[in-house]
Amino acid sequence: MGFLSNRKALIVGVASNRSIAWGIAEAMHREGAEIALTYQNDKLKRRVEQCSKACGGGPVMPLDVTDDAQIDTVFQELSDTWGHLDIVVHAVGFAPREELEGSFVDNTTRGGYGMAHDISAYSFVALARGARPLMQGRNGSLLTLTYLGGERALPNYNVMGPAKASLEASVRYMASDLGGEGIRVNAVSAGPIRTLAASGIGDFRKMLDFNAAAAPMRRNVSIDEVGNTSAFLCSDLASGITGEVVHVDGGFHSVALAGSAMGGS
Ligand code: NAD
Repeated sequence: MGFLSNRKALIVGVASNRSIAWGIAEAMHREGAEIALTYQNDKLKRRVEQCSKACGGGPVMPLDVTDDAQIDTVFQELSDTWGHLDIVVHAVGFAPREELEGSFVDNTTRGGYGMAHDISAYSFVALARGARPLMQGRNGSLLTLTYLGGERALPNYNVMGPAKASLEASVRYMASDLGGEGIRVNAVSAGPIRTLAASGIGDFRKMLDFNAAAAPMRRNVSIDEVGNTSAFLCSDLASGITGEVVHVDGGFHSVALAGSAMGGS
């Protein structure tokens, strides 16, 4: 029996089998959870349906997180099908591609700033509000995905940095609000991984190479590693952890200078 047996998980953010959300879905399914997936639009529907088949064939629903009515429908359908919910994973991020390169000051528009925050940060709060009634009495767990660019200024990450900072602050406020109901709220800060979303960030290849060279573990991380930590955080094994941002990045966040750049092996 896995450590998530009898748990029901909604995972938002699968776009392909390279998605971090997919690594999480596989790990949670392996540990015994039933998985519901959503797809952002019709273009992604078939791919997400295929992923769902590979992890037990649970509910698959459309969800654009900017649409409150769709959010309501997703939780109504889960209420009708499952009656309750134990886990929500939010692995969603977006900013206009043209704002993810060059000067942050020059290239960030009012519209892009608002959109990045709405889709990448506010939507986690909106999902929590929808999930809350279904999680009563179940020691529920909410998890989001963030990146070091929310804590430090990094080239090209630009407007996504403030959006991730807002998301991480939201984790702490949500944890404080919901802890009394036994609902825990955490984030995984993943190292760079080649996915569809990441391909929109300028010079992403260079970022991958630099991280691999500089991280204490001298390599990048995989969606499986992020998936395993996420499954742990959403399980009773992590029952004392909330309001936390856990880095799964080979230790990159912990060093100030690149080991290899300084002559280390
Ligand atoms: P991905 O492209 O596979 O996933 C991003 C998902 O966001 C997609 O499924 C997309 O459909 C969804 N999305 C975007 N706008 C949406 C909307 N309006 N409504 C519903 N869904 C929407 O890329 P990923 O790298 O797996 O990204 C998942 C999360 O991980 C993001 O929050 C990202 O910022 C974060 N993250 C990624 C990395 C990385 O290097 N890949 C590192 C740290 C954190």
